Amino acid sequence: MKKLIYADNAATTQLSKKAFEAMLPYLQNEYGNASQSYSFSRSAKLALRESREIIAKCIGALPEEIFITSGGTESDNWIIQGALRQGLPIITSVIEHHAILRPCEWICNKAGDVSYLPVNQEGVVCFNTLNDRMNGKKGITSIMFANNEIGTIQPINEIALLCHRKGWLFHTDAVQAVGHTPINVETLGIDMLSASAHKFNGPKGIGFLYIRRGVKWVPLILGGSQESGFRAGTENVAGVVGMAAALKENIDSLEGNMQHIFNLEEMLMSELSQTCINFQRNGANKHLAGNISLSFPGHSGEAIMHRLDLLGISVSTGSACDSKETNVSHVLKAINLSETMALGTIRITLGKNNTEEDVNKIVQALCKILL
Ligand code: PLP
Repeated sequence: MKKLIYADNAATTQLSKKAFEAMLPYLQNEYGNASQSYSFSRSAKLALRESREIIAKCIGALPEEIFITSGGTESDNWIIQGALRQGLPIITSVIEHHAILRPCEWICNKAGDVSYLPVNQEGVVCFNTLNDRMNGKKGITSIMFANNEIGTIQPINEIALLCHRKGWLFHTDAVQAVGHTPINVETLGIDMLSASAHKFNGPKGIGFLYIRRGVKWVPLILGGSQESGFRAGTENVAGVVGMAAALKENIDSLEGNMQHIFNLEEMLMSELSQTCINFQRNGANKHLAGNISLSFPGHSGEAIMHRLDLLGISVSTGSACDSKETNVSHVLKAINLSETMALGTIRITLGKNNTEEDVNKIVQALCKILL
């Protein structure tokens, strides 16, 4: 049987064996409700506590600063809808994920105050505009850590410092970055951060929002007293345990993983450059390992994606959430790519499980399709 090559790791990742095994007891035998105080629930309660400690340690936070959610979309919505409920103005960027942009659009319809920062051709937010717009009433700035379509990593520390100088809060959607690049919320000056387990080899439908101690925020879901009463609902213990195990595994081998993926990326770019294929790479020098956005002038990214699929290779045209729409991605538009270049774009995202053989096969397949 032909080996399939998965090269869409920004869309989702394979659940790690360690995470899978760590989850098993809580899916079957240890099914106690973690909120109950009898001894049968002790194991679930302990697992939740230990997992929260592990997650917090992986990003330099305290356990009580971690709030479990169902993933990146929920964490992002918590920020934007929370800002609206507190009457806080929001500054975000034009290249955010729809998990930020759509609630922002909704807020604008409710007469909320949202402003969007432009980016340069590499996808880096405009500092001067941010500085100018943080005058007047204090609010919250939400800028993604790394972009899902082109991989650009923002100057997070500088943005956080600027926000704090102006008395603004700083949130970052770090869904693509957590578990893939070093992040310490304390040293980077991050007030709030969104993350999602399925992007770092954890299970789907679970994530977290980090809220720095001392930041006054509003609850998301009211009901029981779970997550300090901020996000009620019986805890998904197996999901939290799987998320913690996957994150710890990635953080423990972060340097090695990044080196491996950067090597594969370099190999892919060098092999592609040696062919006669006409292409342009999008994004910035400072980017997520393995996130490769390529534009092929005169070709259709959608057609390339489908032909690669027929050859057993999974890549994406834009972000996964956009793949049902054929219009040009808002990110590619924002970095000033012409419509023809944008429509000829594919996104290859390599992960820790990819190999040199995968890279060779991807380049061979691109030659077959494009030459
Ligand atoms: N934010 C970014 C940057 C993403 O890439 C994604 C998913 O692709 C999300 C948020 C949404 O995360 P989730 O799939 O966990 O809801």
